[in-house]
Amino acid sequence: MALSELCFRLVSLRCGKLMCARSLSQCSGNLKWEVGNNGGVSVLDPRLTTLSAVLDLVRTGRAATRPELETLTGLGRKLVAQRVGELIEAGLLREDSFGPSTGGRAPRRLRFAADAGCLLVAHYGATGVGVGIADLSGAVVDLVHRDHHIADGPEPALALAVDLWEMLLERRAQKPPVWGVGIGVPGPVEFSTARPVSPPIMPGWHEFDIRDRVHQRFEVPVWVDNDVNAMALGELRAGEARGVQDFLYLKIGSGIGAGLVSRGSLHRGAQGVAGDVGHTATREQRGVICRCGKTDCLEAVAGGAALIASAGRSGILARRLAERGRLAVDDLRYAAEHGDPEIIALLTRSGRLVGEMLASVVNLFNPSLVIVGGHVAEVGDALLAGVRQTVYERSLPLATRDLRIVRSMHSDVVGVTGSAFTAIDELFAPAALSQWMDRGSPAGLRSL
Ligand SMILES: [Zn+2]
Repeated sequence: MALSELCFRLVSLRCGKLMCARSLSQCSGNLKWEVGNNGGVSVLDPRLTTLSAVLDLVRTGRAATRPELETLTGLGRKLVAQRVGELIEAGLLREDSFGPSTGGRAPRRLRFAADAGCLLVAHYGATGVGVGIADLSGAVVDLVHRDHHIADGPEPALALAVDLWEMLLERRAQKPPVWGVGIGVPGPVEFSTARPVSPPIMPGWHEFDIRDRVHQRFEVPVWVDNDVNAMALGELRAGEARGVQDFLYLKIGSGIGAGLVSRGSLHRGAQGVAGDVGHTATREQRGVICRCGKTDCLEAVAGGAALIASAGRSGILARRLAERGRLAVDDLRYAAEHGDPEIIALLTRSGRLVGEMLASVVNLFNPSLVIVGGHVAEVGDALLAGVRQTVYERSLPLATRDLRIVRSMHSDVVGVTGSAFTAIDELFAPAALSQWMDRGSPAGLRSL
């Protein structure tokens, strides 16, 4: 058989599914390599695929020694040693102390060089932005939050992030080179071009070239995704959803949106708007105009802005409203903590409306975990209780038998962590690795 007809396939011993090396870290079964002809199977460069597989296993903590790599990949000792050697030479892996012996000489432990480069990350909400620096393992090593209105347009928003990145880089003692940028924005994004597409709350951002603006200061690859997708990815790689194959991240802030993870991968949909559940119709007939232009969307009747608009009727908050002229999400928290029955009833009603939408999604998508995050979800227990009660009442018993609905434990960092992984997943994909590994770093490349 000619070499061009050969292909290498990674097959999970547990589920028997053909996998690309990128999804290697997401399979909990052992893996074996198969060599065959290319009938219907995409041909991957064997060197890059094996390099990427070895790197992924060490990077994600699933393997730390050469014998473990041999077991997990099914590759021979010589090939594993060769690939590890190449990755050490490229500065991506380092040798550490000795690992446990399995009879003979104890193997050297391998460690991913998470500090070989750094990532610039930003997570925009409607009224605030988190800007930080992450290492190559996805750990956010520095982070600042600023109030900022996304509706002011792309130029001030991106100028703020660029200024803050420069400030954060300046104040770090260690100064690894910048390898990439990951950004989350509160609207639909065409992932391949990194351009927002008709985002309802982001005037001026439609098809804005975010990459080009960032490249004016940082010549590195830039990836942009929807904010809730980034939050889902953050939970999947580093949070509550680690190891969960099918889950949903539901953000309840001023808007409402969901990030879907199916079989361990983010499901963005054909146009990148999968999970835009805030604009599903409710059975409320109040005639509330939503910011998308339709009436009585879930977000318009149950989101943060809707809650704040109704909150002034409560006894506790009516006084605050009269004093300040406006209320914020923190006021809802204050009233809920003081047992204000009207606010608790508002939150419960909002939770039930969200729960009605979620019950349909649970029947359709059958996740094993739903993580509820966002500033409004953190206001108190009443909203989450309303969500849970309605989902368990209205979903199919089999769909909810093992379903967990939990609150996100770290809404403030999960977005920037997710933006780091948006970049990491792309940087270390085999096709991207082929473009930068031999030159030592992706720094200086505008795209991959
Ligand atoms: Zn709407």
